[in-house]
Amino acid sequence: MPPEFRPPERIGFIGLGQMGVPMAANLAKAAFGLAVADNNAAAVERFRAAHACEVPATLAALGKACKVVITMLPDGASVRGVMLGAGGVAAGMPAGSVLIDMSSSSPVGTRRLGEELAAMQIGLVDAPVSGGVSKARTGALSIMAGGNAHLIDRCRPILLAMGARIFATGPLGSGHAMKALNNYVSAAGLAAAVEAVLAGQRFGLDANVIVDVLNASTGRNNSTEAKFHQFILSRKFDSGFSMGLMVKDLRTALEVAHASGTPVPLGEACVETWSKAEDLLGKQTDHTGVAQYWEKLAGSELAGKKG
Ligand code: NAD
Repeated sequence: MPPEFRPPERIGFIGLGQMGVPMAANLAKAAFGLAVADNNAAAVERFRAAHACEVPATLAALGKACKVVITMLPDGASVRGVMLGAGGVAAGMPAGSVLIDMSSSSPVGTRRLGEELAAMQIGLVDAPVSGGVSKARTGALSIMAGGNAHLIDRCRPILLAMGARIFATGPLGSGHAMKALNNYVSAAGLAAAVEAVLAGQRFGLDANVIVDVLNASTGRNNSTEAKFHQFILSRKFDSGFSMGLMVKDLRTALEVAHASGTPVPLGEACVETWSKAEDLLGKQTDHTGVAQYWEKLAGSELAGKKG
């Protein structure tokens, strides 16, 4: 088996957004070489000013300079575009190189991309992440990796520079399917908590007390523990994960359910509700701002910390 990819292997990193910047920074910290790209020139310049990296003139040049390329882009369509579009990354990548797509892409599209890249002798691993911007910063992401097990093993040192736990989830696309299903559970939990806290507050309870009780009881979930006081009751709404990306993930989860012929009535209702919130509040609103959708329906605001 070819060797693992270890520092100072040069990695191409495409997508310097909320997640990409801290993830690429952790690769630099682990002494990997970096060649970066983003269609936002200002984001590239900010990254170049802070970290040792190359900025190839074209995507094909980036592909040529790196045996491993990571994408951290909004969705699978963007990944497909940068890889296979005219003058894209794949055009420059030598045979035997690997794409690790860490974006939350659609697993159906990932399988198709995998076949097309395989015909060019380029390997593909889907390795989306969970843990948000805070865990991206500390290198403590959960990473769910789909694809050839030997290829995942070769990529493990790279993944471990960004994540604390690497789960090999199965064949290509299984990581992306897992990620979408995770975000469905997360979005449903957040929505249920918003409804419960708002209903409780309107019934006369204190919102802060409700969240504290949930967190000490069986109703707790990641949103009650890590989002409610921090981003919702504080009204900061700045977790770093947008509403548009969450709704995209929910639609992908439905795609997984439909592809497997699984009835998901709660999932359908969840997508419909989050989509209405997105229409009302806008794609760029932080996903924790979804609480404002229920506030508008109820005609009252969740009350933040007292005193
Ligand atoms: P973001 O919108 O902050 O960043 C995306 C970056 O990609 C931007 O810098 C944008 O300029 C760049 N980009 C978009 N299209 C491009 C193209 N065609 N070519 C080059 N660059 C392009 O998004 P994010 O929050 O960093 O999320 C990235 C991915 O990670 C998404 O798939 C998202 O669902 C997933 N994700 C996000 C979080 C989070 O907390 N933000 C957590 C887990 C997973």
